Amino acid sequence: MIDTSELTFKTRGAGDIIDITDNMKTAVRDSGLTSGTIIAFVPGSTAGLTTIEYEPGLLKDVPDLMEKLVPSDRSYQHDETWHDGNGFSHLRSALIGPDITVPFSAGNLLLGTWQQVVFLEFDNRARNRTVVLQIIGE
Ligand code: ZN
Repeated sequence: MIDTSELTFKTRGAGDIIDITDNMKTAVRDSGLTSGTIIAFVPGSTAGLTTIEYEPGLLKDVPDLMEKLVPSDRSYQHDETWHDGNGFSHLRSALIGPDITVPFSAGNLLLGTWQQVVFLEFDNRARNRTVVLQIIGE
């Protein structure tokens, strides 16, 4: 059986980190499935999904790391194509990836105690976002 749903939320632009763990737990519970996998996927090329410990230090460390890896204060070829100034956003998204898969059993996500699933906004402006949640299980 497959159950597909969507989350929608607003972000404030690059550096915004949103914990979607509870939304994923709710989706699994509402599906009535007890074991399987849940996939979260962002349709968009300027955001990412990963896991971190959702605590104040990392909410600063992760954007700092992104700034070191892919600085926002230089220009990229993409900016020559569209002049939208978000070449760095696309590159960060390509590094992190648009999806994550978490197994669940007995109705519970098999995440570590200090492991949360987070949506990373990389775009250079506030966005309305959709995340697709697809559960495959029994
Ligand atoms: Zn762009």
